[in-house]
Amino acid sequence: MHAVSYLVLARKWRPQTFSDLIGQEHVSRTLKNAIDSGRVAHAFLFTGARGVGKTSSARILAKALNCEEGMSPEPCNVCPACREITDGTSVDVFEIDGASNNGVDEIRELRETIKYLPSRCRYKIFIIDEVHMLSTSAFNALLKTLEEPPPHVKFIFATTEPHKVPITILSRCQRFDFKRIPLQRIAARLRYIVDQEGVAISDASLAVVARKGDGSMRDAISTLDQVLAFCGQSAADEDVVALLGVVDRRLLMETSAAVFARDTREVLETVRRVDSFGYNMRQFCQELIEHFRGFTIIRAVGRDADDILDLSEGEMAELHRQAGEHDLPTLQRYLTLLLKAEGEMAGSGFPRLVMEMALLKMATLPPVVPVEEILARLAALEGVIPAGAVASAPPVWNAPARNESASRPAPQPAGQAPRQQAPQGRTEDPPPRTTLAAASPEPAGPRDWPGFVAYVKGKKPMFASVLEKGRPLSVTEERLEIGFAGGSFEFARMQDKETLEELVRLGGEFFPRKPEVRIVSLAGDAPDLPPSLHEKKSLDNARRMSEIRSKAEGHPMVAASLRIFGGTLEGVREKGPGKGPARQGS
Ligand SMILES: [Zn+2]
Repeated sequence: MHAVSYLVLARKWRPQTFSDLIGQEHVSRTLKNAIDSGRVAHAFLFTGARGVGKTSSARILAKALNCEEGMSPEPCNVCPACREITDGTSVDVFEIDGASNNGVDEIRELRETIKYLPSRCRYKIFIIDEVHMLSTSAFNALLKTLEEPPPHVKFIFATTEPHKVPITILSRCQRFDFKRIPLQRIAARLRYIVDQEGVAISDASLAVVARKGDGSMRDAISTLDQVLAFCGQSAADEDVVALLGVVDRRLLMETSAAVFARDTREVLETVRRVDSFGYNMRQFCQELIEHFRGFTIIRAVGRDADDILDLSEGEMAELHRQAGEHDLPTLQRYLTLLLKAEGEMAGSGFPRLVMEMALLKMATLPPVVPVEEILARLAALEGVIPAGAVASAPPVWNAPARNESASRPAPQPAGQAPRQQAPQGRTEDPPPRTTLAAASPEPAGPRDWPGFVAYVKGKKPMFASVLEKGRPLSVTEERLEIGFAGGSFEFARMQDKETLEELVRLGGEFFPRKPEVRIVSLAGDAPDLPPSLHEKKSLDNARRMSEIRSKAEGHPMVAASLRIFGGTLEGVREKGPGKGPARQGS
């Protein structure tokens, strides 16, 4: 019964004209214009997900080209040519399934057929579905035809995976990308169909059916068929959700209402009902995530949410009503809790318990207090806290000045060999000499390795970035010995004669006694050798961030807010213009 009913509805409501085609107006407009102007390509490629109208469009196009009433964007659908194409019996329109005809033989046969003029129609039309499934040799055979197509032949290719179609074929086709059909458009089409069929079914149920289609009109209509086969001419909401195994949206709305109302009893009651209906708890959680995503998006973008959320009009109205005054950070925390619960359910033997705990936590979540407000409250408290504890402390969120961090005794990597004391001042940050060097050719500052690299940077920035990867094994007035990891790009680069000469020349400019230059190949990590400037930079960064963090943690105002509001320090960042200090989380 199922199969018969499916065929009946799907075939009966297959679009027969471009105006029937839902959600692909960009395609039908272009095709109509091409036919009107008489400039029709030899080959078309229709791409897009399954069930969005590619094959239907191919047949409509075939009819538009071959209709006996004349070539027209609106084929008559009643002449013998049109009717034969609709029935799939036309002698001049060939439908080939690439998935089952992937051999060269079929394409060779096709090339034989192509030679002859159409027997009845204007054009011989080859519709190849799932064209990406053709074998390479079949593609090659097809390509020969596509290169010089006879004027009486048109090709229409359809594919769900255009990236698998060879570029040589793609480049010879006019391409049309079919879109996923929005839920509201599918629901409207289903409404039209059920009204024509005299079936009683609610908009809410049609939305459920449309959602099952997941952007595909064909899948949605076949789901509708299942529903009608089961429910007959009158489909009750309960039957539809039970049949399709989806969670009743009312249950989702009731759950979110209970969370918003902070009603712990009602929250547990909804979980009990989900369980008693025999729904899969994890699936319920997933739908709840989708549901709260809706609230979050509505709060974030207001009315524009309609374009982002694929929901029916009724569902949108419900969400807007419930979204109410809940603030965005709270909604985001709800989502975080749900996502965490969903992950936990995967490996838990107690999915119901996980769901209950997550919802209870949501319903009892303390409200988010913005950091600015915490600071304002703390400022008000200052009078109460003993003077000096807060007022005289330096602001935490200012980054320590560079020289401040450099003046600390920088921790030396363990086990450093004594011989690399030669490059003096190596552990100091390079002073901002780069710009000076760029402005004047005269080297300034100390004659050490960081100074040299900064000097090179002013003249040859690319070359300097290569040198930054090198370890200064020995840097003196007489000798420049730089180590690079053997096999690295940089080492290979330094083997180049011109590059080496460049280094000798720059070395001679910077160091007055024109040191001898040696490039050494290093094996492995060699932790006992001096670090490259590149490595040193990341070490310094990590050290600076940890300094900022411990400073922040030690700051009395931060410590006080962590204690008073039960927060944790989520992260620190250097203060930029207009940015707030450390972020607070629960
Ligand atoms: Zn016709």
